[in-house]
Amino acid sequence: MISFKIPEKIEQSVVIMETIAENMMRPVSRHFDEHEHEIPWDYIEFMHTSQKAMGGGGTLTDSETKKKKEGPSISFQRLAFTSEILSWGDVGMWLCTPGGGLGGAAVNATGTPEQKKRFLSNYRGEKPVFDAMALTEPHAGSAMPAEVRMTAVRDGEEWILNGEKIFVTAGNKALVDSDGFVVMWATIDPEAGRAGVRPFVVEAGTPGCSVTKMEHKLGIRSSDTVSIVLQDCRIPFDNILGSPEVVKKKKTKKGFKGAMATFDATRPLVAASALGIARATLELLKEMLEEQGVEIRYGLPRSKMTNIEREIVDMEVMLRSTWLLTVKAMWLADERKSNTIEASMCKVKAGDVVVKITQRAVELMGPLGYSREYLLEKWFRDAKINDLYEGTGQINRLIVARRILEYSRHELS
Ligand SMILES: Cc1cc2nc3c(=O)[nH]c(=O)nc-3n(C[C@H](O)[C@H](O)[C@H](O)COP(=O)(O)OP(=O)(O)OC[C@H]3O[C@@H](n4cnc5c(N)ncnc54)[C@H](O)[C@@H]3O)c2cc1C
Repeated sequence: MISFKIPEKIEQSVVIMETIAENMMRPVSRHFDEHEHEIPWDYIEFMHTSQKAMGGGGTLTDSETKKKKEGPSISFQRLAFTSEILSWGDVGMWLCTPGGGLGGAAVNATGTPEQKKRFLSNYRGEKPVFDAMALTEPHAGSAMPAEVRMTAVRDGEEWILNGEKIFVTAGNKALVDSDGFVVMWATIDPEAGRAGVRPFVVEAGTPGCSVTKMEHKLGIRSSDTVSIVLQDCRIPFDNILGSPEVVKKKKTKKGFKGAMATFDATRPLVAASALGIARATLELLKEMLEEQGVEIRYGLPRSKMTNIEREIVDMEVMLRSTWLLTVKAMWLADERKSNTIEASMCKVKAGDVVVKITQRAVELMGPLGYSREYLLEKWFRDAKINDLYEGTGQINRLIVARRILEYSRHELS
C-alpha cells in the first residue's frame, strides 16, 4: 500500500539536504553557471562526507540491500528526494555530487548482488567516486537501442569494447577526476538489433577508454558532458549487467528486459530533478510577486481569482501532482514492481512542468526574469534538458502509449 508519509530515514536526511541546498549551493549557483566546469574539489569532498553521514553515500546502502531483514527498501525513494532537493539548490551542482548518478542506478537496477557490492561499495570509501551512463552515440539517440554501434566481443574471460559515446553526463568526473565507472551500452550481436544490446561497466583507468571532448552547454553548465572513445578496451567478463545470452525469438526480449529496468530507475530521478528546479522557480516567482503587491488568495473560488492567481495555483497543481507520480514510480522500483509506465509518465510530465513554469516565470517577471540579477533566467536554461535526456518527451510519450494500447514498437513508432 502506498503511504504518503515520508519514511523516517529519508525525513532525517531531508533536513540535512535542505540545509546544504540552501547554504552551500544557492549562494554559488550563479558563479558556477558563469564559470563552466569549475566546481572545486572541496565541494565534492564535502558532499561525499555529508552523504556518508546521512547513511546514503550513493545509490544504495548495504542496509537497504538487506531488504528482507530490515523491511522494505527505500533507496530509490531516497534518491528521488535527494535529486529534488539538491536540484532545488542547483541542478548543475547536483550533477557534480558524487555517488548516485545514472550509472549507479543502472547497476542497482540490473546488477547481481555481487556486482552491486563490487561497484557501489566504493561510494562509502575515503574518496568521492562518480558514475555515469553512456547510451547515446553519433548514430543512436531516440531510435536506440537498435542503432547502438558500440560492440562488445567476448574473448575468454574478458569483453573487448569498441566504439564512441557522446553527451555523457559526469563522464569526465567518473573516468578522469575519480576512480569511478561508466555504464556503457554495447551490442554483443549486431545482427540481433535491440535484443543484442547490453550495459557494461567500464571502470576508470581501463586502458583503451578515453574522454575525447567536453561540451559547452545552454544549461546545467557546472556539470561536465563528454564524449568517450573505447578502442580495444578490455573489461572483465563479469562486468556485463544482465544476461550475456541473446534470445532472438520474436516475442522474447528477456535479455534486453533487464537493461530496460535501468530507465525505469533513472527516469524518475530526472523527473525529481526537474521538479526541484520547478519548485525553486515557483517559490521565487511568488516571493517576487508578493514584493510587487500581488498576493495569491488561495481560498477563493476559481471564478473570483485574478488571472495570475489562477496561473500560480495551476502551476502548484502541476508541480505537486507530478511529484506524487514520481514518488509512486520510485516506490514501485523499491518494491521491485514494474514501473515502466509511471517512470515514463513522470518523466514526460516533469519535463513539461519545469519548462512551462520556468518559461512563464521569465515572462511574468519581464525584464527581471530576463536579467542575470535573478536566477529565473538560469533555471529557464537549466529546465530544458529534463525534457531531452533519458528519452525525450516525445519518446517517453510513445512508451506510455504503447504500454497502454498494447502496441508493439513497430505498430506505434
Ligand atoms: C546535456 C546533455 C546530457 C546528456 N547526457 C546523457 C547521458 O548521460 N547519457 C546518454 O546516454 N545520453 C545523454 N544525452 C543524450 C540524450 O539522451 C539524447 O540527446 C536524447 O535521448 C535525444 O536523442 P538524440 O539526440 O539522438 O535525438 P534524436 O533521436 O535524433 O531525436 C531528435 C528529435 O526527434 C524526436 N523524435 C525522434 N523519434 C521520434 C518519434 N518516433 N516520434 C516523435 N518524435 C521523435 C526526438 O524526441 C527529438 O526531439 C545527453 C544530452 C544532453 C544534451
